[in-house]
Amino acid sequence: MRRTGDLKLIQELNRSIIFDTIRHYGPISRSEIAKRNKLSPTTVTSAVSELIRDSFVCEVGTGESNGGRKPILVQFSPDSRFLIGISISGSKITIAEMNLEAAVKRKEVHSVKPYQGESVLAYLLDIIAQFLRGAASLDTCMGISIVTQGIVDSVHGVIRYNPKLRLQNAPVKEMIEQRFQLKTWLDNDTNAYLLAEKTIGDFSHYQNMLYVTIGDGLGASILMNGAIYRGFKGGAGEFGHTTIDRAGVRCDCGNVGCLENYVSWPTIYSKLVSSLAKGKTSRISDLVEQDVGRITPAVFRQALAEQDPLSVSILEETASYLASGLVNLIHLFNPEVIILGGEIAFENELLIAKVKDYVMEYAHGILTEELEIRPNSLGENVEVAGAAAVLLQDTFQFSL
Ligand SMILES: [Zn+2]
Repeated sequence: MRRTGDLKLIQELNRSIIFDTIRHYGPISRSEIAKRNKLSPTTVTSAVSELIRDSFVCEVGTGESNGGRKPILVQFSPDSRFLIGISISGSKITIAEMNLEAAVKRKEVHSVKPYQGESVLAYLLDIIAQFLRGAASLDTCMGISIVTQGIVDSVHGVIRYNPKLRLQNAPVKEMIEQRFQLKTWLDNDTNAYLLAEKTIGDFSHYQNMLYVTIGDGLGASILMNGAIYRGFKGGAGEFGHTTIDRAGVRCDCGNVGCLENYVSWPTIYSKLVSSLAKGKTSRISDLVEQDVGRITPAVFRQALAEQDPLSVSILEETASYLASGLVNLIHLFNPEVIILGGEIAFENELLIAKVKDYVMEYAHGILTEELEIRPNSLGENVEVAGAAAVLLQDTFQFSL
């Protein structure tokens, strides 16, 4: 029995290597795939037949001959199937239909307010049901992949703890699979963004990196020697709940002085609103026509781009707190690159520049020598691309 298991494992591994080669180098001939990976022609032929049968790849004409018959070329067919990617943050649910390269075909954003706890889940099911009605046919749907903040048990598909949405031990995977009969994945959002940058973004060649999300909350994901470090219960990377002030602000998690409360959007927002209430002048007031309810991260970034002094000073304070946390992470993990993502970091060159300055000043020189601090490469679709990456990685086992 053991030998059969080994054989099946090797076949699956070969299939994923072959698929990865076609994805990267197609159109490509079967003999070229064999040569590149030092695999036997029969192994390649049988794996390619399976991939064609499952419509993940297709034959596309012929290549140059080396004297014999012209070889038939095969290539990846990213539009042969689709998947549903969902991101649930503290403020919104984003749902998208994507192809096998995580290209977005259709996308909707729904505000999550005023839902909390069980009602968030009921609302999520309604959103999925309505969105699926817009799909041509579910026969070619690979499944549904969901990413969210907090501690997630990705093996069992359970949200263990999400203080923002007041969810504990929510069996999301089981609930969705029962309702829609579609295979479902669930993972922590920041882990998913890191996976997306590694598999479909610009960061494929890094083996040690950190992804830090600055948005409604603050989270981190750790890639260590090419594998995501999840910790014992899946809670590794809860960067936002590291303590920086024992006498500080009370956090949603019950503790006091968590870093998240000095760095995330709700904090920036309340600083802006209280400064405006005290009569400080700011470009923000004009941008939202005096309606503070309309201040969003995008408005804040716009004010920064126009060098609004109030916004710049709040950003500098935020960057300084964030950098203190990053200095700790750098000393713990010695990363090659730190990717800054989330709504606050999106297209925010000033934040990245300020954080870099502080980090270079305070972290140990040897650890910052070739350290890069960069924005995410997947832009504003990173949330749903993260969800797609979780499904694609689990299905195809792309090399990390
Ligand atoms: Zn906390």
